[in-house]
Amino acid sequence: MTLTSTAPVRPALLDAPLPLLIDGREVAGSGAVIDVMNPSTGEVLARATSATVEDVDAAVAAARTAFDDGRWSKLAPARRAALMQRWADLLEENIEEIALLESLNCGKPFPIARDFEIRQGIEILRYQSGWATKLNGETRDMSLPGTWHAYTRRQAIGVAGLIVPWNVPFTLAMSKLAPALAAGCTTVLKPAELTPLTAVRLGQLAVEAGIPAGVVNIIPGPGSVAGQRLAEHPDVDKISFTGSTAVGQHLLRTVSHDLKRISLELGGKSPVVIYPDADLSIAIPGAAQAIFANSGQVCAAGSRLYVHRDVADEVVAGIKKIAESMQLGAGTEPGTQMGPLVSSVQRDKVLDYLAQGVAAGGTIVTGGAAPEREGYFIQPTVMLIEDPQASVVKEEIFGPVLVAQTFGDEDSIEDVLALANDNEYGLNSLVFTRDISRALLLAEGLQAGNVRINTPAGMDPALPFGGYGMSGWGRENGREGVEAYTELKTVTIKLG
Ligand code: NAP
Ligand code: MG
Repeated sequence: MTLTSTAPVRPALLDAPLPLLIDGREVAGSGAVIDVMNPSTGEVLARATSATVEDVDAAVAAARTAFDDGRWSKLAPARRAALMQRWADLLEENIEEIALLESLNCGKPFPIARDFEIRQGIEILRYQSGWATKLNGETRDMSLPGTWHAYTRRQAIGVAGLIVPWNVPFTLAMSKLAPALAAGCTTVLKPAELTPLTAVRLGQLAVEAGIPAGVVNIIPGPGSVAGQRLAEHPDVDKISFTGSTAVGQHLLRTVSHDLKRISLELGGKSPVVIYPDADLSIAIPGAAQAIFANSGQVCAAGSRLYVHRDVADEVVAGIKKIAESMQLGAGTEPGTQMGPLVSSVQRDKVLDYLAQGVAAGGTIVTGGAAPEREGYFIQPTVMLIEDPQASVVKEEIFGPVLVAQTFGDEDSIEDVLALANDNEYGLNSLVFTRDISRALLLAEGLQAGNVRINTPAGMDPALPFGGYGMSGWGRENGREGVEAYTELKTVTIKLG
């Protein structure tokens, strides 16, 4: 796949300081203007205004008014759904431009940004728009003496503050905006300071689609200022956060004073288990994709490999071959299979982990370094390591680094589960085997919100996604995703 001729050469958003979007209008904001970088080159890509506390307050006030006057929450559900679909149509019409912005800002390959990520975000919007007309409560039968009528209602929580990271900016933003809007909430979205471009673009198109002013507000700005204020703000009813476990824990403490509702989509250190009976022509590229996609900057990345000794050499050699064949390059360079990491900070963090792994006795099978070139690149890396307590085995690296260990015939299902579950995270897990009983026993015992069997894929707008343990609280996507933006009310009536 290559850049198509319809891709705009230079999206307009790159040429002027990126605005904030408050109450349906583009505003300059009152904060400093900062550089937005192109991680493929290390050069300045655009300039963006940083939202201040005052800007956040203005955005929250707009969202509060828009919620309280019912312009969105009291709109007929079918009308809300239609406006969301119209928004999806506009996003689709502009998919090339949005994908280009994302590719330039994150360094990810343009065709992948367009055909997978941006498209997936649009599909999430379309899917969730369907819930606008289908969310409802139930009637329940009671056992108290007398005659009763009892029912439940799903009501929009109110103003939702949405905080997203830099790894999949558009899709993660849409994973929050779409269900929030379907539920009838109004929103304030804070993208990561590193990657504000597609957030502002999708906000502009929401206005163009006719979504009422104040329903979608976008405030690029630093987490410690804009994100913090959003979490503290008394007029925000719900925080939905995707990012690091440390910031998630901090936000949990921040909202404890008013018990704001909170959803946390945090990190992962997901196991990949390969048995010798697996179809290795699926398992080997599957394991490679699970760790190298998006340069490993994926919360659900399969970053710990447990491979049966009988096929360990073949599997590791196969992943090594794929790693060494991958074309590293700028996101917009035709043929690029793996882009850079998002920032020099993230690259240096990964390099530091690699050094720690080697110090803990790890052997680098392939990669292990930053190639000599501009931009924040790291070679796709496989490391063999025996120490289960090493930081590279325990902690989320968030880069293209697979740590590999082996097991053998002496290991029961319980033993393999113990290896796979030996981590505080619990987001994802991959199993490759043709043995259906083994696959299902592992699926039952894996301490993770997601289990994928014989595939690294499986994200779908209909399927709940989220984690056990330190991977967070709550689920996104599916019915659970939209219900996370509702309060549940019970009404009881004594009839006689
Ligand atoms: P992060 O620091 O947790 O940032 C995520 C979002 O939270 C960003 O928008 C950030 O803003 C904001 N934020 C930071 N401090 C905040 C605060 N005090 N109050 C409110 N919001 C705040 O994550 P990161 O720096 O982007 O990435 C670091 C690590 O997070 C990665 O190495 C990885 O472990 C994890 N991560 C997980 C996922 C996932 O999908 N689960 C995705 C990305 C990253 P600014 O960035 O603008 O400061
Ligand atoms: Mg951060």
